[in-house]
Amino acid sequence: MLKKSKGLKSRLIELTKFEIKDLEGPSSEKVKRIIPKVFNTVRKAISTYKKEIKDLPEGVQSAPQEFWDEIMVQAKKLGIDLIGFAPIDEDFMFENDHVGGIDVLYENAIVLGMEMDYEAIDTAPEPPAGIESLNIYAELGEATNKLTAFIRSKGYRAIGCHPLGGPILYPAMAVKAGLGKIGRQGLLITKKFGPRQRLSVISVNISPLPEVVQEPVDIEQYCKKCKRCLNLCPVSAIYDEPIVKENGVVTRIDGEKCIEYFYKTMGCSVCIKECPFHKIGYKAQFYARL
Ligand code: SF4
Ligand code: SF4
Repeated sequence: MLKKSKGLKSRLIELTKFEIKDLEGPSSEKVKRIIPKVFNTVRKAISTYKKEIKDLPEGVQSAPQEFWDEIMVQAKKLGIDLIGFAPIDEDFMFENDHVGGIDVLYENAIVLGMEMDYEAIDTAPEPPAGIESLNIYAELGEATNKLTAFIRSKGYRAIGCHPLGGPILYPAMAVKAGLGKIGRQGLLITKKFGPRQRLSVISVNISPLPEVVQEPVDIEQYCKKCKRCLNLCPVSAIYDEPIVKENGVVTRIDGEKCIEYFYKTMGCSVCIKECPFHKIGYKAQFYARL
């Protein structure tokens, strides 16, 4: 069955608003290489989607375990660090996917994550952190497109959703897939990388999904006490008390405040850098019990 948004609003990230004109030297050269790659991978995702919806399938396909095993191998080869599976939740779908123009998804999702470089993120809010963030949009975008093409080459129907923007709330989907929990700053926190990953989704017309046991992630107790991201956000964009909407969707950030600074600094990332799950790693959690 096709899934459609129930009206959740999205925030557009516009690559043209990044203040790259002020960059000089190697940073500028890097950005000049990365931005076209981000655009190309977005374009590829859009054109594949347009082909996909020309002839939408009736009914759902099923796949053997060997197919899912192949997906795991391919994902690893493509540099994907995290993979999980969950049904698409229409409450998490955006009314408008400004980036990819995707307005329908298939029943189920493969949720993907790619690590951002520790040292680069540790420079936030200086340009290397933002550049790494853009770099992973490009790298994960490319890997998502390739894995989507692989699934389609096996005769299954799939819609690849680019990590930049996308038609669905990726962190919420990642939680459903058992990859981690959401921190105060609204980011997915995983055991492996803390908040230091980008996410994407491939929606597939395949059911059932494989049963994968994910390790439990427990951050809530620590997060409640910590508040580092909240106190250190340069523009105080993180709410002390999240806003919970009727449909259960939670807003943790004042998007207007965050996005302005995000553009100015090429991707900010202070709330990633300052999170103990990035700095210390998952063992930070044990301090919660002290
Ligand atoms: S990205 Fe920067 S501005 Fe946005 S919430 Fe995080 S620390 Fe604040
Ligand atoms: S900085 Fe602290 S409060 Fe913020 S997400 Fe990380 S652990 Fe939670």
